[in-house]
Amino acid sequence: MTAQLIDGNALARQIRADVSGRTAALQARGIQPTLAIVLVGDDPASQVYVKHKVNDSSETGLVANLERHPAGMSEAALLARIHALNDDPAVHGILVQLPLPKHMDSHKVIEAISPAKDVDGFHVASAGALMVGQPGFWPCTPHGCLKMLDSIGYELRGKHAVVIGRSNIVGKPMAMMLLGRSATVTICHSATADLGAITRQADVIVAAVGKQNLVTADMVKPGAVVLDVGMNRNAEGKLCGDVDFDAVKEVASWITPVPGGVGPMTRAMLLVNTLEAAERAAG
Ligand code: NAD
Repeated sequence: MTAQLIDGNALARQIRADVSGRTAALQARGIQPTLAIVLVGDDPASQVYVKHKVNDSSETGLVANLERHPAGMSEAALLARIHALNDDPAVHGILVQLPLPKHMDSHKVIEAISPAKDVDGFHVASAGALMVGQPGFWPCTPHGCLKMLDSIGYELRGKHAVVIGRSNIVGKPMAMMLLGRSATVTICHSATADLGAITRQADVIVAAVGKQNLVTADMVKPGAVVLDVGMNRNAEGKLCGDVDFDAVKEVASWITPVPGGVGPMTRAMLLVNTLEAAERAAG
């Protein structure tokens, strides 16, 4: 079997077109959906990520205000800035680019964001809302993965999904979303013994570890759907995921590539969350 590709770029394009239309509808009512992006310090990867977020936003009619602060900014000053953004009715979403400088407590900073503007979905209130099935903002990467499954019409009910990775921003929320769709969910992590014995039972595998070739063909049940969240550099410096793509695509029924899979969907879901924040504020 050669798996079909779930094309993250194409799906993200559709989502951006939908965001553009809904943004225009809000603008017609005099509301400009606006995202505040807060960058502290000069981490090179963060510079690239925020540039993408600003460009994606402007392409869809959203306004993204990028504010850069020096690495030496005090935590108190950053908290004061977030409180000001919380109180600003013209700002609908607030994103603090991580990682923050070491002298700052990231958890405390994220918790300072109003849950109504938490478009990254990292606030404890957002995690809690997902857990209990209440409206809130879902983290962009797992939400994008769920959209990819929806795009192929995949029925999760009664299926076994195996999530590899238990981070707060990908693995855990991914598991909650799959559970919400009535899948049976197993979460694996670095202490999981005999990972392959578990993944071989999976109808859906979500790999979110950050380790090249973690998922090999012998670990995949024929016909399984494989979503690759990992972002790694191979020996030639090329971007690759956690899945041995060339071999696994011969076993899986559907697979996401890296690049061009989950990454563009993550970016698209941030736009969706920002737009939804503006729509909710507009009533
Ligand atoms: P993280 O780095 O905080 O944690 C990795 C997780 O993997 C942990 O839960 C750990 O227990 C688990 N793990 C580590 N080694 C393992 C092993 N050998 N077997 C099983 N589990 C193991 O996680 P993160 O922030 O969720 O990032 C994971 C990967 O996803 C990284 O490569 C990151 O770059 C990528 N990522 C991609 C996107 C995207 O948009 N494509 C977004 C976020 C993260």
